[in-house]
Amino acid sequence: MSFYTKDGLTCEQLINKAQVALIDARQKGDNQIGFFRQDLEEEVFSSLKLRSDLEQAISNKEFLPYFQPYVDSKAQIVGAEALMRWQKNGIIVPPAQFIEQLEQSNLIIDAENLMIEKVLSVIEKTSKNKKHIPISINLSSRSLFARHFLQTLTSSLNYHNIKDALLNIEIVERIFMHDFLYIQNLIKQLKGQKILFSVDDFGTGYSSLSYLSELDIDYLKIDISFVKRLGSSKKIQSTVKSIIFLAKELGIKTIAEGVETHAQFESLKGMGCDYFQGFLFYRPLPCKDFIMLIG
Ligand code: C2E
Ligand code: CA
Ligand code: CA
Repeated sequence: MSFYTKDGLTCEQLINKAQVALIDARQKGDNQIGFFRQDLEEEVFSSLKLRSDLEQAISNKEFLPYFQPYVDSKAQIVGAEALMRWQKNGIIVPPAQFIEQLEQSNLIIDAENLMIEKVLSVIEKTSKNKKHIPISINLSSRSLFARHFLQTLTSSLNYHNIKDALLNIEIVERIFMHDFLYIQNLIKQLKGQKILFSVDDFGTGYSSLSYLSELDIDYLKIDISFVKRLGSSKKIQSTVKSIIFLAKELGIKTIAEGVETHAQFESLKGMGCDYFQGFLFYRPLPCKDFIMLIG
């Protein structure tokens, strides 16, 4: 609903405002009456603006990876995660400000293709060094389910001459449940090309554990929310301990995310966690700094 004269004076204005009210109704649930609100209209405008900025950003190739190394129990770098950034007018924008919008459309596929290209070229470059380490990329379900995903990735791997197990694909739990057989087959095919797989944000997806034994997973990433609460809850400690035990039994390595304090590091080490990622060790770094660090 929109109101004459508060929301507009002409028929057209009132209908436009009623379109905004539709969002209010949808947010309330089924069979609800929605009302026009100024703040909703502003949200719609900024979301449309963001969408068109993102389209522009894709054609200008403004998305690039930052690299966050992760370490073993001796704090030695054993791998890194590529995290998307948007270089917008010289400013580096973190994914919290755009990834959700990107993921709502196929724009995410283009952005992740840019990431894959850049990451593979970094792998190609650094694999010539003595210290070659696997690099992870985060892939959305749109990319994984895109029609030519397998062929495109395969030809990029060939183009960059990557034959060792140096690319790791991070997938969030809920995607496994999407279409289990498809993912199972995809993993099988890519394992033939030595691609590694990680379950990202483990423990937050409310999904069944059975997939862990049915898929060929290499790493399990313990979600930051567990690490954050380690010190304050015995139950969280038991949960994390059980996750690490389960992973070990299944031959899967564990990476704890968001390790910020020595106390968290020590506690996780004591539980037998294999690897550690977090600000205590490294923040996500621009490509040049990362290559220098591991070079
Ligand atoms: P994620 O995959 O869970 O990535 C880890 C996030 O935790 C990163 O945030 C990283 O900077 C942050 N982090 C690392 N160590 C610490 C720590 O010690 N403390 C705290 N508080 N945070 C830490 P970032 O780079 O802002 O990325 C946020 C999320 O955006 C990622 O979460 C991932 O879900 C998404 N994302 C990033 N790159 C991509 C991408 O290429 N594709 C897709 N689909 N999603 C991406
Ligand atoms: Ca991740
Ligand atoms: Ca994560």
